[in-house]
Order: sequence, then C-alpha cells, then structure tokens
Amino acid sequence: MLKTAAFWVLDMDEIKSYKCPCCGAPLVFSGEKQKLRCGSCGAELEADAVRGFAEADGRVNGASKYDWDTYEPREFGRTETGGVSAYSCPSCGAEISGGPEMGASICPYCGNAAIVKRSFEGAYMPDYIIPFRIDKSSAMKRLKENAAKKLFIPKAFRDETRLREVTGMYVPFWMFDCDVEGEAAFRGVRTHVWSDSRYNYTRTDHYMLYRSGSAVFRNVPVDASQKAEDAYMDAIEPFDCTEAMDFDTAYLSGYLADKYDVSAEESISRANERIKRSFADMLRSTTAGYAAVSAGGERVEFSNGRIRYALMPVWWLNVKYRGKMYRFAMNGQTGKAVGDYPADRVKLAAFFGCTFAVLGAAAAALWYFI
Ligand SMILES: [Zn+2]
Ligand SMILES: [Zn+2]
Repeated sequence: MLKTAAFWVLDMDEIKSYKCPCCGAPLVFSGEKQKLRCGSCGAELEADAVRGFAEADGRVNGASKYDWDTYEPREFGRTETGGVSAYSCPSCGAEISGGPEMGASICPYCGNAAIVKRSFEGAYMPDYIIPFRIDKSSAMKRLKENAAKKLFIPKAFRDETRLREVTGMYVPFWMFDCDVEGEAAFRGVRTHVWSDSRYNYTRTDHYMLYRSGSAVFRNVPVDASQKAEDAYMDAIEPFDCTEAMDFDTAYLSGYLADKYDVSAEESISRANERIKRSFADMLRSTTAGYAAVSAGGERVEFSNGRIRYALMPVWWLNVKYRGKMYRFAMNGQTGKAVGDYPADRVKLAAFFGCTFAVLGAAAAALWYFI
C-alpha cells in the first residue's frame, strides 16, 4: 500500500494521462475505491497494474534497432579464377560465370542459346556455397513428372529435348546472422457463456498480453540477383545451410554462377522484415489459449549482425510456348520447384500446390533457428 500511495503523490500528472487498456478512454482516479476507473467501459484497475501496462506499452512502442556489420567484399585471387570463365547474354544482359566448358550453355534467365565468353572481372569471391545435390537427369525427371501431373499441359513442357535445356546455375544470396531481443504486445479475449432460468450471460474478459524473448537467427537468406525474381526464390526455399561449404571454384565445374547485383546494404531491409516477422510469430505462438488475439506494438533489437555472400544451387528451365516464355526454377539441393504453366497463367503456381507452399513457409521459419 505504501508503494501505491507514494506513486499517487509523485505521479499525479502521469496518472491523468493514463489510458484504459481495455478501450483507450482516459482513466480517472476514484479515491473511494483507491482505483483507476474508466468512464467509458467501466473497467476498474489497480494503480500498479495500470503503471505496468503503461511501462510495457512504452517499451513495445519504442524504436527498434538494427545493427549490421558492413559486408567487406573479397577479391578473387589469380589462382582462384584460373578455372573460371565469364559469359554474358546479349539478349537479357545477364553476366554470369562458369567453367570454361559452359560456353555452349543456354542463358538460364531468358533461354537464349548464344551466351558470349568475355573477360572475367567484377565478381567478388563468395564466402560459401551449397553444392548441387540434384543432378541434371533427376532435375529433368522431376520436371517431367510435375508436368505429367498437370492436366492439359502442352507437349512442349514434357518434351525430352526441351527438358535437356535445364541449366544449373548458382544464384547469389546474402546470408544474415544476428541475435534478436525484443518484445511485443497482443490483445486477447476470453469469453465465458452461461445461463440461468431467465437469461443467457456472456462475459468477455480482455487481456493485454506482453511477451518478450530472444532468439538467434542464422543464415536468413535474401537473394542478391535482380534477374532471379524474389517470388521464385522465396518459393524454392529453404536451403539447408548445414551443407554449406567454404567457397571453392571447383564447385562451379559443370555449372554457371550469377553474381550479385543487389548490394548487401540494399538487401538489409528485406532481411529485417523476414527476421522481424519470424520473431513476432514466435512471440505470438505463446498467446495460445486466447480467442481473437490481435497485435499491438512491437520492438526489436538486433545485435551481432553479420552478412555473408553465398551461392545457392538452382536448376533453370525456360520453355517458349506460343510466343511466351515460361520459366521454371528448382532448388538444386532439395528438388523443390516452382514454375508457370500455360494452364496456370493466373498466378505463379507452385508445382505442389498451395498446401505445400504453406508448409514450406513454416519449414523456412523453423530453419532460421537452426
Ligand atoms: Zn475503458
Ligand atoms: Zn539471357
């Protein structure tokens, strides 16, 4: 009681500004009951509880902080580029590298069959690489099987000669690591229904739920190539980074590799969003047991942020049909694929349907915590 009394004397101005946590109307101190009362919804609250709400609200609505190290590019050494050639696509402008034998390749981004060899320059050395696990023949087999599952698919999409054009190309990604600490507010309700001989009663209790926590995020990927559309890359995730190896040009043999044209700095906002969303979902998952949970404020603080440059294996296929190009991309590690068939023109449809995409998103969220 003493503590409460001191609080009243010292913080009169502050009390006046307190708002009802249930409805947002101003609270008025009722001396008789020694409580704060809401004139609008009738809620009566202990001073300590109100102060607790206000403090927590102030915290969750505070400014978020994102601390990232600057990415320092590493130049290729002379010996390291010995086995690498550079190519450019005169049709779409893609600038890619690969083994010297890749000159006859088809451009993975636009399907143009005449990529041109040029001098190797302007590419930085990736920090690590996830090697291909799905080889060309099983990539072709999967694409064929997926097309066969669809009804009314033109023959071009199952044609062996076409499928042989599938090209393995590493796609540049930025990988973000950081430690996150933060908190979020949620509003939850619980309803209780009962009746007596005359009336039915419904009691609705409103709760302000504050949750705080910390999490470690490792290898949150953001693709670093403008030509590799975000929707495609998001759809074929996740990549399993436990299989990542220190970069070595030997892994490029038989494959092409794109280099980044979206800088690490430009990718930070996407990484922040992904990490924030996963973290908020994690906090929200602790509010089970309340009906109708809606989100209030949220504050996060990132520390030890580290950015690395990585290459991820992707199989690409472009099929031209009635003047339009249909593109397919397949995760070269897991075989998860995405693509666009003429019958599915309405939207970019995952091969395995929406259910799988939802599961995939859940798996991706889990994977961040590995
Ligand atoms: Zn109220
Ligand atoms: Zn091209």
